[in-house]
Amino acid sequence: MVIVDQETCVACGACVDACPFAAITLSDAARPLIGDACTLCGACVDACPSESLWLDVPEQGNARTNDQAAWRGVMIFAEFRLGRLAPVSLELLGAGRKLADTLGVPLAAALLGADFPEFRAAAATLIGHGADVVYVAAHAGLADFSEERYTQALTALIRRYQPEVVLAGATAIGRSFIPAVATHLGAGLTADCTGLDIRLEDRALLQTRPAFGGNIMATIVCPDARPQMATVRPKVMRALPPDDVRTGEIIRFPVDEFCALARSRVLESVVGEADQVNIQEAEILISGGRGLDSDKGFALVRQLAEAFGGKVAASRAAVDAGWIAYPHQVGQTGKTVAPKLYIACGISGAIQHVAGMQSSETIVAINRDPHAPIFEVADYGLVGDLYEIIPKLIAKISERRG
Ligand SMILES: Cc1cc2nc3c(=O)[nH]c(=O)nc-3n(C[C@H](O)[C@H](O)[C@H](O)COP(=O)(O)OP(=O)(O)OC[C@H]3O[C@@H](n4cnc5c(N)ncnc54)[C@H](O)[C@@H]3O)c2cc1C
Repeated sequence: MVIVDQETCVACGACVDACPFAAITLSDAARPLIGDACTLCGACVDACPSESLWLDVPEQGNARTNDQAAWRGVMIFAEFRLGRLAPVSLELLGAGRKLADTLGVPLAAALLGADFPEFRAAAATLIGHGADVVYVAAHAGLADFSEERYTQALTALIRRYQPEVVLAGATAIGRSFIPAVATHLGAGLTADCTGLDIRLEDRALLQTRPAFGGNIMATIVCPDARPQMATVRPKVMRALPPDDVRTGEIIRFPVDEFCALARSRVLESVVGEADQVNIQEAEILISGGRGLDSDKGFALVRQLAEAFGGKVAASRAAVDAGWIAYPHQVGQTGKTVAPKLYIACGISGAIQHVAGMQSSETIVAINRDPHAPIFEVADYGLVGDLYEIIPKLIAKISERRG
């Protein structure tokens, strides 16, 4: 709740003006009264010149922890960036749909961004992929990602609609601000889940993820606080096929005053060169490991990738050796990929690497060690020296194309 120090309050009305939800009025005695519409966003606290207001959030769990029954529904954060929905948003809807159906509750999507036509179309796309309701927070101030604004907007939205489960993508944006949202809400957060389920007796979200260097799978529950929050890496869950006739509700969530109060401003967004390497969307990946022996080996891997019209990926050993940049890394501490074809060249198949590529449709491994674990997940195995095999493959492809 919001606490008002009556001793120091000068009844200036700054909190009334600052409240984005019109939840504060001045009493006859000229004292702030906090109404039911309060979402605990903290805007009044920041605006108070005499520091007479503060938020009383229990250390464990949030203010409504004890009233778990008030939290109902599943919500996903729909990431919208550079004019389009991040594919992980649709994958989250696929996972969220199953959870919502099991719980017998609606599935909502929270869509934050500026009110461009593509943004408006995104709400319909979310409904077509499984959302029952889309909460749209549209404001020019949300056009570019800003940790401060996104954290405040999503926190307020969650407090307002009280979903029992919140899912977000473990993307650069999700990783950057979802922990702050969880902190504001006093909720737990399980990062990088690979499996999600519901334990119906207590409506607990069972959040499964690799632990101890990927050697065990741990299932985590957050029994005390609501919402239960989890992030999921791109390409781990499957999106539902689009249904153009599906209908749902689109509800506007006001953030105007809220954005006006933000203390940070995005001056410019620059797409870094490394960010342009999007191995997660490639249909064909040629991946190189320590077996390449030097960065020169990647020249060969690149030629094979060009021959196939694919992109280049790598194991962590190759990245750590400095032969290729981190955005190419596949695995537990890299990216999760699921291309149609994954060719592992000189990669042993350590569990941490396999965790990031085992969902690929067809896996081909080239390795000179016939006992390398990569052959256990490979559909086709080529045992031999990659410096002999790859040039032959390139020649064969050119011959076929020729
Ligand atoms: C917490 C943690 C997180 C990790 N996260 C990741 C991650 O995200 N991604 C990842 O990849 N790893 C990760 N690792 C590291 C992982 O355990 C392995 O060390 C790493 O994947 C090994 O990379 P590699 O297969 O390229 O090298 P190696 O294991 O050294 O394998 C090289 C392979 O190349 C073969 N070879 C050598 N020369 C040739 C040749 N001329 N022709 C054909 N084959 C040849 C060898 O037989 C061998 O099988 C992580 C480890 C930890 C502890």
